[in-house]
Amino acid sequence: MPREVVACQSDREADMIRTRPCIRSGRFPSFEGYAHMNRAIETQVLIVGAGPVGMTLALDLAWRGIDVVVAERRRPAEAPSVKCSQISARSMEIFRRLGVARVLRDAGLPADYPNDVVSCTTVTGIELSRIPIPSRGERSGPAAGPDAAWPTPEPPHRINQTFFEPLLFAQVAAHPRIRVLNRAEVEQFVQDERGVTTTARDLDSGEETTIVSTYLVGCDGGKSAVRRAIGSELRGTPVIQRVQSTYIRAPELLSLLPGKRGWLYFSLNPRRCGTTIAIDGRERWLIHNFLYRGEPEFDSIDRDWAIRTILGVGPDFRYDVISQEDWIGRRLVADRFRDRRAFICGDAAHLWIPHAGYGMNAGIADAADLAWMIAAVLTGWASPGLLDAYEAERQPITEQVSHFTAGIAELIMKQRREVPSDIEAPGAAGEAVRARIAREAYAIDVQQQCCGGLNFGYFYAQSPIIAYDDEPHPAYTMHDFTSSTVPGCRAPHVWMDGRRSLYDALGPSYTLIRLDPAARASGLVAAAARRGVPLAVVDLEAPEAALYGRKLVLVRPDQHVAWRGDAEPADPLALIDLVRGARVTPTQAAAAATERATLSAP
Ligand SMILES: Cc1cc2nc3c(=O)[nH]c(=O)nc-3n(C[C@H](O)[C@H](O)[C@H](O)COP(=O)(O)OP(=O)(O)OC[C@H]3O[C@@H](n4cnc5c(N)ncnc54)[C@H](O)[C@@H]3O)c2cc1C
Repeated sequence: MPREVVACQSDREADMIRTRPCIRSGRFPSFEGYAHMNRAIETQVLIVGAGPVGMTLALDLAWRGIDVVVAERRRPAEAPSVKCSQISARSMEIFRRLGVARVLRDAGLPADYPNDVVSCTTVTGIELSRIPIPSRGERSGPAAGPDAAWPTPEPPHRINQTFFEPLLFAQVAAHPRIRVLNRAEVEQFVQDERGVTTTARDLDSGEETTIVSTYLVGCDGGKSAVRRAIGSELRGTPVIQRVQSTYIRAPELLSLLPGKRGWLYFSLNPRRCGTTIAIDGRERWLIHNFLYRGEPEFDSIDRDWAIRTILGVGPDFRYDVISQEDWIGRRLVADRFRDRRAFICGDAAHLWIPHAGYGMNAGIADAADLAWMIAAVLTGWASPGLLDAYEAERQPITEQVSHFTAGIAELIMKQRREVPSDIEAPGAAGEAVRARIAREAYAIDVQQQCCGGLNFGYFYAQSPIIAYDDEPHPAYTMHDFTSSTVPGCRAPHVWMDGRRSLYDALGPSYTLIRLDPAARASGLVAAAARRGVPLAVVDLEAPEAALYGRKLVLVRPDQHVAWRGDAEPADPLALIDLVRGARVTPTQAAAAATERATLSAP
């Protein structure tokens, strides 16, 4: 049984922890108080959990020159259960910056396997609607479909977590700045003004290790013990729907598919609706049987019957169960993402029914947001006040995504409850019913499977480190978005000099994008230099650059806009201090936290 992580807050408890033996390398002079320890690992950041979010955070911190230790219960490269099947475009943009996008894109479904999303009566039955989504081979050339023209250097990528986690792990394990402690379970930590001291147990030998770090980040999943240890609670709807998920091997199924193959099938029939996802494009499939209201237990429905009904196959159809997982779709967001030096990211901070493929991908966005902030503080050019921006930015966004996904879940549940009994009827009457349901299904499916708003539309509206102006943020939905340089938005992507991504030209820290080569930038450059803030200047000339709308746009290390103007601000140093977190007062931070708590109160 995994043990609970305990955050020891009192001096007495802290003293008890500090008497544990540890090794001291002496590299971090701020840890003078731990000098008596004779067996400890020291690092700048300890990450608890090497799931996709913990590994992304580790890679991003290391990319920014930070030393990281990752403690993970699992064995090296041990595959997770079959869960997330897609990496969003925005996540792929992050992986592109980290230099791992190519490795991930070269894996997954076979290059020519269609990524289409199909609604049908059953997987082997009548097709109702189809969203064309380019295969990964087609992504390299001109492609068609609702997401094909998205303004990004990295379109979405269909690959299951079982395949990409080991690939990500190989990158993490090979990185000289990252040390992974596998089979290590974090049990407790204590923090004070100097740092965090954590105890982890080796699950094979039973030995204890002490890890001394400046910061700790819990990326330890939905049952996060770090979340509990920092006194954070999940708020929202604890049960939206129960789901029976079964991972099967069925070599016959591909040959039974009518017409062009698809990646994801939504079965709509009056007997049993469900979702089927191609995992390897050959013989492995993941089938989600979303239980209906009035089916309160996971075993309310016969699993084999449900699988055969969703697929539309008879008793002779053969399949093996590789694994099965029963889980609950929720809508929960943590009421705080941080306690002083300890943070939470990913499923540790929010859990929702993963419609739109935005469970893991929202966690990857958390990691990208937090990584640059911690790195900036540790590198010395930002004030610790910068870290207040993490919760202020990510909590409202994840709250919003949780409502989007709960909303789509309601639509899907309604759609499934109301499938007409004559949907499979022959002739004109049946066809008319199918045409109507096809239109409705397409409208629901395209929102979530081509969720441009979740990828590119979200913006940070309440951040203490963004200089807002008078223009309101453009509204967005799960599906729709408007690229914009309103501060807080993702900097619009444009191609430079033909096919060079603007994102590849940005510096690792702040970048001032200059749309008019005559615009003066020397004041900002000098102010940044005075505060030690790395600032690159990029002159942008591209036909699409008009949508930047201003002569100067200051872009953050995570590609969001921090400020814009047609001329430098009157006080460039004040702006630089704002964006490096030096103007966030404790009062401002407390007021923002209170406002957020009010907004997210049930
Ligand atoms: C059936 C299903 C389908 C899904 N489909 C999608 C999808 O299509 N798109 C999408 O975006 N998301 C999807 N999700 C959600 C997605 O899988 C999760 O959001 C994602 O795995 C979260 O990543 P994480 O790194 O935050 O947490 P996890 O993947 O849970 O990783 C946490 C890690 O922490 C480790 N750990 C925990 N406690 C400790 C400790 N005390 N000490 C050391 N290590 C510890 C665990 O071993 C684990 O490796 C799906 C989920 C399910 C269940």
